[in-house]
Amino acid sequence: MSIACKDTFLLNPDLNPTFDAESKALFKTVKNQDENVKAELAVAQNLALRVAELIAYTYKCQYQSIVGMTAKEIRAVILDKYTSVTLEALLAFCNEYGIPIGHFAEFPTKVKKFFGMVTQSKGHPVIMVSLCDLSPSRLSFIIAHELGHIALGHLEDGLIISEQNLGMLDQLDDDESAANEFAAELILGQPDRVYYFPHYMTAEALSESAMEKSRRDRVIEKNSNAPQQINRYLSKSLDWDSLSNDYREYLALALGLDIAEIIEESRNCLPVS
Ligand SMILES: [Zn+2]
Repeated sequence: MSIACKDTFLLNPDLNPTFDAESKALFKTVKNQDENVKAELAVAQNLALRVAELIAYTYKCQYQSIVGMTAKEIRAVILDKYTSVTLEALLAFCNEYGIPIGHFAEFPTKVKKFFGMVTQSKGHPVIMVSLCDLSPSRLSFIIAHELGHIALGHLEDGLIISEQNLGMLDQLDDDESAANEFAAELILGQPDRVYYFPHYMTAEALSESAMEKSRRDRVIEKNSNAPQQINRYLSKSLDWDSLSNDYREYLALALGLDIAEIIEESRNCLPVS
């Protein structure tokens, strides 16, 4: 039996909880993955999936399909408004096309975790980032990789693509390699851009050289708390009033958002009578 609860229970507190024994959720994981690892990952994946469903249910924007768009085309749309493909620029692009992105990493301490996932819910592709890292660059790459899966048409009905380690080349199948190339082209302008540094460099020289190259290629990210940046951005596009108090509180907690701030903002948005 799957631990997946039916939507109706998640969204209606008056119903008794039931479990979906026929869940069609199929997690695509890295190739040759051990069955034990798959089972260990299931807890975190299913928790993130429930949060993704709540996000899709409360998301206000209309989805405009990006299937078939190339990395180059998406990059051109972004560079029309931004000087480089930063986390903020990716969040704005996804919001414009109706693709919600959330950061969720509130897992029980002992469960095996994953980097991110993309799923389809309520007619939207939903990107969930779960890597606990403050760096906007690292989280941007995960988002760009998931956009690759969507645009390349990998997201079939009922399939949830989850990522364990985007860098383990020997474990990547064709879809994963294609999504990585898509992400590199979207962020850096070329699918195979590689940066070389001499073997022996002081930390200062390495840092200076990296800064110089990032300025040259316009890939500089401002320092920020990236998970918070993602969820604060998402919060503005959620219809918080469509949720009962309990679920509003649960979703805010799952996304690390301040429920008092959300209530205050939604009061400010009420039409003046
Ligand atoms: Zn992937």
